[in-house]
Amino acid sequence: MNKTDILEQRFKKSFSSNTVDRAIYSSDLAPTSKIVSFFFISKPLGILLPRTITDLQEMITFCYQNKISFIPRGSGTSGYGGATPTRKSVIIDCSRLVDIISFDKENMTATVESGVTFEQLTRFLEKEELTLRSYPSSAPAATIAGWIAQGGMGFGTAKYGTAKDQVVSFNLIRPDGTLENYSIDDLDLIYALSGITGIITQLTIKIRSLTNENVYGYNSPSLEKLLEKVDIFTNNNHSIHTIHLQNPDFRSLKQLIDKGENKTSEEASDSIDLSEHEYHLLVVSEEEIKENDLSKDSKIKLLSPDIIKEEWEKRFTSLRIKRLGPSIMPCEVVIPQDKFHTFIKLVQKKFNEPIAWESHFVKGSEAIILFYFFTDERSFSLNFAFLNPLVIVQLAEKVGGRAYALGYWFSGYEKKLLSPATLNKVRHYKEKHDESSLCNPDKVFSRRFKWFPIISNKTVIKLGSFSGQILMKILRIKGYKKANTSYLKKMKK
Ligand SMILES: Cc1cc2nc3c(=O)[nH]c(=O)nc-3n(C[C@H](O)[C@H](O)[C@H](O)COP(=O)(O)OP(=O)(O)OC[C@H]3O[C@@H](n4cnc5c(N)ncnc54)[C@H](O)[C@@H]3O)c2cc1C
Repeated sequence: MNKTDILEQRFKKSFSSNTVDRAIYSSDLAPTSKIVSFFFISKPLGILLPRTITDLQEMITFCYQNKISFIPRGSGTSGYGGATPTRKSVIIDCSRLVDIISFDKENMTATVESGVTFEQLTRFLEKEELTLRSYPSSAPAATIAGWIAQGGMGFGTAKYGTAKDQVVSFNLIRPDGTLENYSIDDLDLIYALSGITGIITQLTIKIRSLTNENVYGYNSPSLEKLLEKVDIFTNNNHSIHTIHLQNPDFRSLKQLIDKGENKTSEEASDSIDLSEHEYHLLVVSEEEIKENDLSKDSKIKLLSPDIIKEEWEKRFTSLRIKRLGPSIMPCEVVIPQDKFHTFIKLVQKKFNEPIAWESHFVKGSEAIILFYFFTDERSFSLNFAFLNPLVIVQLAEKVGGRAYALGYWFSGYEKKLLSPATLNKVRHYKEKHDESSLCNPDKVFSRRFKWFPIISNKTVIKLGSFSGQILMKILRIKGYKKANTSYLKKMKK
C-alpha cells in the first residue's frame, strides 16, 4: 500500500485525496508556477481534516509512526509557501478547530482553539464589551495560530505590538504526537516558525475592553506629508493603536470592489472622493486626539467623521481584492519606519507601474507593507509574477528591511528574523522531537539538495530570481508585458 492508501484506510472520511482538493491545497494565496513546481512536489498526498484535538493528535502520531511528512495549515491566506508541500506530504487543515474555550475578564485573556479566525473571536468578544488588541487585515479568514506562526502584524500593532505580544500560553502537539502545554517563556518554539515545531492546538491571548474608538482619516497626494504625520503620532501619542496607510492604487481596488458589489452610485461616489490619486491614512485612538495634533496642513485633507467611521467598519475588505484576480500574488515586507519613503521610491523606480499596497505601523518604529500583484495562474506570465515578491524583498533588504515571514520562499533567511538563541533552541528541539524532519519540512531552514549538498534551496531561488529578471528584461524588449499590471490598468479604465 502506498502512503495515500494507508491514510485513506486509517482516516476514511477525515481524509480527502480527490484531485480538486489536492489542487486547491497545492498553494496558499500565491499560486505556484509550473516552472517552480518542476523543482518540488507541490501537490499533497491528501488533506486530513481533524474536528477535535483528539483527532489531530491521532493524525500526527500516525504520520510520525508511518514516516509521513505533514504540514499544518490554517486558512492558507499567507503567500510565502509555509502551508504548502515541497515533497510528498499530507496537509493537516486545522480550520475546523474553532472552539472559543473561555475568556477571563479579570486577566483580560481569551482561550481558543487554533483554527478560530480573528473575525469569529472579535464578534464573540464584542458581545461582552471586549475586543482583540492586534489582528491582521485578513481577519475574516486568518486563523489565530496561522498569524502567530507567521509572526504577524496589523491593526492595533501601533500600540499593542505584533503577534508575539498577544500570546500568554499555548498548547502544541509535537511532531512525535505528544501534547504539551507551554508558557510564554517558550513562545520562541512557535513564533514566526511556519509551524515546523508541531501543530498549535490552543492559545491563550490577551484581549482588551471595547472602548470608544476615535477614528481619524487623512488624505493627501503627498506620501511624504502623511509619513510626517505618522511620525508625529508614533512619537507622541500612546493611545493610538492603529496607523493604517493605503496608496491610491489600493484605494482604487477598494472602489472597484464596491462597484462589483453593486453599491448605489451615491455610495460608490463617496469612495471615489476618498481615493482619487490620494494616499489615505487611517488613525484610530482610544482617546480623542487634540486639535493641535491634527495640525492643519494645506496638503493634508482631514476627512469627515462619517466617511471615516464607515471606512473603519469596512476595514476587512482586503481579502476581497482576490476577486478582482484571476489570481493574486501577495508580498509582505517589514521596513524601518524612517526608510518607508525611500523604500517606496525604490519600488516605484523598479516597477514603474501601478502597484496597490497597504501598510500597518508597528510599535517600535517598523511598518509592514503588503503589496498586491495581479496575475493569471493559468498563463505562462505567472512565472514572471512569481519574481515580484522576490524583487520586493531584495529592495526591502537594501533599506534594512526584510521579508515578513520565512515559509518556503524565504527559508534560509532565518538569521534575519530570529535570534541565534532561538535558532539554537529550535534546532535542538527538532533533533529531539522530529529527527526525520516530518513536520513541515523545508520551511524556515533552507533545504540542501541530496546529491549537491553545497546547493541549497535559497541558492536556487536566488539564481532563479536573478536569471528570471534578466529574461524579463529581454522579453520586455520584445514587447512582452510584465505579469502584474495589465490587469490593474484594465480595471482602472
Ligand atoms: C488580503 C490579505 C491581507 C493580509 N493582511 C495581513 C496583515 O495585516 N498582517 C499580517 O501579518 N499578515 C497579513 N496577511 C497574511 C496572512 O493572512 C496572515 O499571516 C494570516 O494570519 C495567516 O493565517 P492563516 O490561517 O491563513 O495561516 P496559513 O496561511 O494557513 O499558514 C501560515 C503558516 O502558519 C502555519 N500554521 C497554520 N496553522 C498552524 C497551526 N495550527 N500550528 C502550527 N502552524 C500553523 C502554516 O504551516 C504556515 O506556515 C494578509 C494576507 C492577505 C491575503
